[in-house]
Amino acid sequence: MTVFLPGSTIGFFGGGQLGRMAAMAARSMGYDVHVLDPDAHCPARALASQTITAPWGDVDAAARLAVGVDVVTMEIEKIPLAALEAAGRHAPLRPAPGVLHVVQDRARQKEWLRNHGFPLGPFRVVRSADDTVAAAREFGACIVKAASGGYDGRGQARVFHLEEAAPAWTSIGAPVCVAEQFLDLSAELSVMVARSPNGEMRAYPPSRNHHTDGVLSWSVIPGGFDDVETRRATEIACGIAEQLGVIGLLAVELFLVEDGSLSVNELAPRPHNSYHHSERACVTSQFEQLVRAVCGLPLGDTDVVRPAAIYNLLGDLWSGAEAPDFAGVLALPGVRLHLYGKGEARAGRKMGHLSACGAGADTALERVVDAYRRLSLSTGGV
Ligand code: ATP
Ligand code: MG
Repeated sequence: MTVFLPGSTIGFFGGGQLGRMAAMAARSMGYDVHVLDPDAHCPARALASQTITAPWGDVDAAARLAVGVDVVTMEIEKIPLAALEAAGRHAPLRPAPGVLHVVQDRARQKEWLRNHGFPLGPFRVVRSADDTVAAAREFGACIVKAASGGYDGRGQARVFHLEEAAPAWTSIGAPVCVAEQFLDLSAELSVMVARSPNGEMRAYPPSRNHHTDGVLSWSVIPGGFDDVETRRATEIACGIAEQLGVIGLLAVELFLVEDGSLSVNELAPRPHNSYHHSERACVTSQFEQLVRAVCGLPLGDTDVVRPAAIYNLLGDLWSGAEAPDFAGVLALPGVRLHLYGKGEARAGRKMGHLSACGAGADTALERVVDAYRRLSLSTGGV
């Protein structure tokens, strides 16, 4: 197996916050970093010795990225296959295009999971308003999601009454959607798995996640799940990573349903927002683990050495009369600030996060929630 040692160069499709934090880890370990992103001012630019500014589907640019580096990975799954394949002709692409092909279409992803025996809530692939109405009739409350291109709850509509089904289809405006039964959740969790080219795998302990309006608000690790839930969630996540043949990272988002069962929500073959706390909590952060996995180095320990939690900072925080009082929250015990270097603070845009550690997961979470509350009050708005 080829190992890319420090001194090698890693190419990233995507220079958003995930690419930036992964690039920081790569830099810390002595790697050089090149980035391809459509935005010339992308957050990872500050870490990259070369930035290629090009659309995701630009096959020549993708090939150029790969020619200049030893190995290519990604922070985003929506790269068109032709661009991935163009890159893969010049350098190992980890994970491989086949993984992205399954994951980047929600309908295909769900069908793959079902065909491989992984647990899912009831769903239907819908291609018209009539299909959507039929799904709503079958499921009662449901959530309709565009098959491709959605994130942070975008490209989705919730249907609680039958008459909302056709407008939901129209409002999304995608040719193919997935309608899922709206599940009664007792918790949301995720499991991050790393897998190296020789098949070695390491899973992180499950993270407990809280979403507001479809967007992650906070995550905490350890997530406080019992042994049976933890074992089952880990088994599911490792099973998926293995059967998909992922090299790199795979985040598996799961629902713990009211009846006690676990079902897979969705997959992300890259670093994930719900493991930003791994930088504070775990022996090896998800970002360093990505570098190790794609470079063929031994994977790092995933144990939690100190409970930690994060709270996302969305662009809305900057819309108040006052600037957020970062100095004030940094005076709080255990709290740290992470900003991604994004210029424009648009509503809903992920600008950064707060993190906090504590002697226990409850303390870490209380600290970060309190810090966030103070920060939002300091703006005099929202
Ligand atoms: P992201 O990219 O941020 O993970 P997304 O746009 O891909 O989000 P989903 O993960 O599909 O969206 O859904 C976002 C959130 O909406 C979930 O984390 C959950 O809180 C809620 N949700 C989604 N599907 C269901 C469902 N079938 N039943 C109940 N709640 C759901
Ligand atoms: Mg999600």
